[in-house]
Amino acid sequence: MKEITFQNPSLSTYDVYEFNDNEEGPEIVFTAGIHGVEQTAIHVAFQLIELLPNYSIKGKVKIIPIVNKPAYFNRTRTSPYDNLDLNRIFPGNKDGSQSMQLAHHIWQETREADYIIDLHCCGQHGSNYVMSLYQDYEEQYKLASQIGIKHVVRSGGASGQLFLEACKVGQQAALLELKGGQPDGMVDLETAQFALKRMFSLLNSIGVIKTQHGKNDVAIDDLIFHENIETISATKHGFFNPKRHSGEHCFKGDALGELDDEAILAPYDGLIAAINYPCYTFSGERMVRYAKLYENN
Ligand SMILES: [Zn+2]
Repeated sequence: MKEITFQNPSLSTYDVYEFNDNEEGPEIVFTAGIHGVEQTAIHVAFQLIELLPNYSIKGKVKIIPIVNKPAYFNRTRTSPYDNLDLNRIFPGNKDGSQSMQLAHHIWQETREADYIIDLHCCGQHGSNYVMSLYQDYEEQYKLASQIGIKHVVRSGGASGQLFLEACKVGQQAALLELKGGQPDGMVDLETAQFALKRMFSLLNSIGVIKTQHGKNDVAIDDLIFHENIETISATKHGFFNPKRHSGEHCFKGDALGELDDEAILAPYDGLIAAINYPCYTFSGERMVRYAKLYENN
């Protein structure tokens, strides 16, 4: 028997970039590409890898820019091997299917981390926000202010997510949703630049690097917290024409868009997490992803 490897890289690998100057400090792990198509996230990770050698590191930074190579090369959210959503199966299983084994290895890889930042995308018509478990873990407020992305959205709490399972075992972890990615892979460069700045600010804030600009936490009072995201779907076949943009706040009753001649109204004060482009839309299809303002703001 001989084994022929006809293509590199193998799809059962991932690369870990490690930055460490043997000085005491916290360990932070950045992951991207758990959902393979989410390319703005992947781009941010690669830019961090490019820029971090310019800094001296206290503690350790680990970056895994493409966690899920099969999904990355397939330009899909899930793996073509077993169709599993990697971000629903942590901590994985070393004897399970390809994705289960991958989850197991990534879980092991991140056990020493004090912080885990899992970079994702929420689509070409999405916006930038932090998924957080602020209602369950008090420390999530501090982490949100260190990340400094103004909009914080409560996670729906689906189990098996890397950041959620990490929070359960006492790590500081958050999931960032960035514009871009779906449906067929797309890097939103402006968003990537914004996210990169926030990540350097976070590294500064937790003491892993020093930048000239000093730490740049956003005050907790300047963050806006939201409930988990709900979907506003079409109730009939028609032409959806958006009137607002993703990332905007609306008041209850504001017109988000029109479906033919029917106004689609904001059901309460909240954030447009994502809104579709003008599109002929079928009954039951999503038009808007909307997060209600958290009452305790
Ligand atoms: Zn994702």
